[in-house]
Amino acid sequence: MKQINEERINNLLLGAVDTDSRKIDKIINKSKSLKRLTLEESAILLTAQDADSIDKIFTAASFVKEEIYGKRVVLFAPLYISNFCLNNCLYCAFKSDNLSIKRKALSVSEIKSETEWLLSRGHKRILMVCGEDAPKAKSSIDYYLEAIRTIYAAEVSRNKIKRININCAPLSVNDFKKLKRSGIGTYQIFQETYHEQTYRSMHLRGPKSDPDNRIDAVDRAFTAGIDDIGIGALFGLYDYRFEVLGLLSHVEHMEEKFKVGPHTISVPRIEPAEGSELSLHPPYKISDNEFKKIVAVLRLSVPYTGIIMSTRETPQMRDSLLSLGVSQISAESRTSPGGYSVSAQEQAGGQFSLGDHRSLDEIIASLIAHDYIPSFCAACYRMERTGEAFMQLAKPGTIKGKCSLNALATLKEYLLDFASDKVRASGEQMINRLSRELNQNDQRLLRNIFAHIDRGVRDEFV
Ligand code: SAM
Ligand code: SF4
Repeated sequence: MKQINEERINNLLLGAVDTDSRKIDKIINKSKSLKRLTLEESAILLTAQDADSIDKIFTAASFVKEEIYGKRVVLFAPLYISNFCLNNCLYCAFKSDNLSIKRKALSVSEIKSETEWLLSRGHKRILMVCGEDAPKAKSSIDYYLEAIRTIYAAEVSRNKIKRININCAPLSVNDFKKLKRSGIGTYQIFQETYHEQTYRSMHLRGPKSDPDNRIDAVDRAFTAGIDDIGIGALFGLYDYRFEVLGLLSHVEHMEEKFKVGPHTISVPRIEPAEGSELSLHPPYKISDNEFKKIVAVLRLSVPYTGIIMSTRETPQMRDSLLSLGVSQISAESRTSPGGYSVSAQEQAGGQFSLGDHRSLDEIIASLIAHDYIPSFCAACYRMERTGEAFMQLAKPGTIKGKCSLNALATLKEYLLDFASDKVRASGEQMINRLSRELNQNDQRLLRNIFAHIDRGVRDEFV
């Protein structure tokens, strides 16, 4: 993996041990001015052990999160379209030698039903996910394009999916171009581990066994014109400090070569997966405190990059990570193809077990109770504020104003169309309170949008 210099990472981690607290304070102060940290500075924060420094890192992360993203939290749901896979990743239930799960690739009508189920709950943003294999007589890209068309075409009482992000195996530049033309938002791909030897030992067979092909997929996607890219590491495979510096080295590479960093970073922790012994005993199991540190250091290191957390985590953990820097969360997820709308007996195997089983309405209730604005906004992507254009807005924190307005508008729609009585009441209160804090111009804008929503218009944004 030419993008990753392992020796440099190891040396930075060694050199960071026993850094004195004044230097740590200096780095924390720098991060509070919303400046990107260097790899060396991130290594020092990652290595800090004493309770006082950790406390300061957490406080600074909360500050930066609030400065750049405000109170809004973007919600999405994964839609697994297939669990067939040619690979044999030791941690995943979809691995090819796992004979204990039922396999399924959803048909067009099943994908439509899944999307309609999600729409009927109030979801607007989907992460499409699949194993690395296509149903018979179709190429992977044709299957993905068919699925994307189906998801965007679905409609439930005036509500449609606004943005499909996709997490799928590496493609060629040509196929990435087709994906871009289909109107996807972010292309997501996790390197899993940036430590090459560990990578090779986890991916023994199949196309994914080549670490270079995987990391180069990000470059190919950029070359094809996809400028919203999501990267990630699967925490638990190797030392978390190395992985965070691996992620940040990857960010450096993207910034150097393509002038724009990743749109999002995902931080999955290994969860128990049926048929995967390794998932039950991850080689580098991450404690809750280490996990919080990972999120906080990432938030300080790349302040303008979204951090995504999935329903792998428990409600308690998710609530505390939100204040440390997470800006997008999945809600009400199922990790099996057909998991939303197909009957339990017919359901295919899921990818891993989940920690958060609350409904979307319950998650929204909890966000409101913690003073976060649940958001289904996809305005940036639709206004072509992607890639560098998004970063220009995100860097000085200007996105925050637009985000809050759009989040309130999408919340209003949710309250009218889908919310339980209890959530409607608490949501209305939140909207009234936060609207009063806006400047006159924004208040006028929002009043206008609300008047349209009351008349049945949906999906207006600034
Ligand atoms: N098959 C494609 C791939 O591997 O890139 C795309 C989808 S794969 C289902 C999405 C991600 O799930 C993987 O990149 C991996 O990080 C994550 N994953 C796999 N097994 C997991 C487990 N046991 N716990 C948590 N996350 C897991
Ligand atoms: Fe297949 Fe992806 Fe699971 Fe690996 S992580 S077995 S590639 S679905």
